[in-house]
Amino acid sequence: MNEIVGHREIVRGLQAGLQAGNLSHAYLFTGPEGVGKATVARALAQALLCQDTPKDSATVTGCLRCSSCHKVVMCCHPDLIGVEMAEKKTRIAVDQIRELARFLSLTPMESPWKVAIIDDAATMNPAAANALLKTLEEPPAQSILILVTSRPGMLLATIRSRCVIYPFNALSKEDFFRILADKTSLKDTEWDGVWHYSEGNVGFGLNFVAGGQLDECSRLHDELRELMTHGGLARLCDVAEHWSKEERFALARTVVGRWLVDRVRESVRSDSGAGGVRAWLAVEAFAREVFARGETFNVNKRYLLEGIFIKMIRTSGASL
Ligand SMILES: [Zn+2]
Repeated sequence: MNEIVGHREIVRGLQAGLQAGNLSHAYLFTGPEGVGKATVARALAQALLCQDTPKDSATVTGCLRCSSCHKVVMCCHPDLIGVEMAEKKTRIAVDQIRELARFLSLTPMESPWKVAIIDDAATMNPAAANALLKTLEEPPAQSILILVTSRPGMLLATIRSRCVIYPFNALSKEDFFRILADKTSLKDTEWDGVWHYSEGNVGFGLNFVAGGQLDECSRLHDELRELMTHGGLARLCDVAEHWSKEERFALARTVVGRWLVDRVRESVRSDSGAGGVRAWLAVEAFAREVFARGETFNVNKRYLLEGIFIKMIRTSGASL
């Protein structure tokens, strides 16, 4: 990790803490998904575990050269543990947090600190959250815990209150493009489309580009615009049938989601009053729930899409 893009205030704050030796036992990084919270958490771990960073250094990433920095990059440093939801699970389990607590209580092996990162901390089940609270109440010496989440409201208030909170903002368009320019080879004509669907979520943007999804999303967007402009029940059924195919359904969620966010923003800016905003927010929430159901359960996706389209057309004031 050579450089952190964006989040300058947060980086400055962490750097000041590192230089002054004024560190907390626990940090909570909050903010939108895909903006670099986990990246900064790993950078902070790297700086804490680095064997070769001068005290007055202006970096929050470590020296990037020593064996310790290399081990953090390779995810094999003996004084660093990362906890996240296990594959095919829906929550972080209590056993994972007990293992983390045991790890933090051990004497550091190669560095001054034992560091733990929990990503996405809001997915801890209640037993795991209570176990973590015990560790936060009596933090082992020389241990630092970094919690990462886009949903801090789902954490126990008693966990939040024991952490130093760093709220991350969405990335600017410029910073988002800088990160993607390093990792992709997008054509000039594609940048705006990727930004439109990603909204600063780097992880989403990279998957979106790697999957070559921009062209298909643009096609679906045109079909949706045509449907919303001209309506028609037969047309609505055709589009729903076409979009219900497995590979298109996930993209349909992206396209409809973006379309609805744009309608909400449009109604906020217009003179239509709070009623318009509320109506589009309700459709957006409905669509989110229906898509989640469609991706989780074996249900007829065409009917789900028809339900969403009907609500969208009615809310826009057009007739079917
Ligand atoms: Zn180093």
